[in-house]
Amino acid sequence: MQYGFQCEECEQAIFPATTRSELAWLRDRIHVVREVAKHAQTGLDTWMLDGLDFLERHAGHSVVLVSRATASGRAGGGASTGSA
Ligand SMILES: [Zn+2]
Repeated sequence: MQYGFQCEECEQAIFPATTRSELAWLRDRIHVVREVAKHAQTGLDTWMLDGLDFLERHAGHSVVLVSRATASGRAGGGASTGSA
């Protein structure tokens, strides 16, 4: 299972390589993480930067935590591209 953020208004989603609890942590502390990111451009994990970027772009929108199955069952039907 993969976990990610989805914007209900833009219908866009990202699935960084991390856990659900990490994503929830990031979303709850977006203001703190954003400040940290300003001062420490290196050293942050990729998932954190990706998640931060997504939350920034969808600030004020309704962003929810979502999950999706991996590997088995490649039922398309989505606008997602570039999935490995
Ligand atoms: Zn949005």
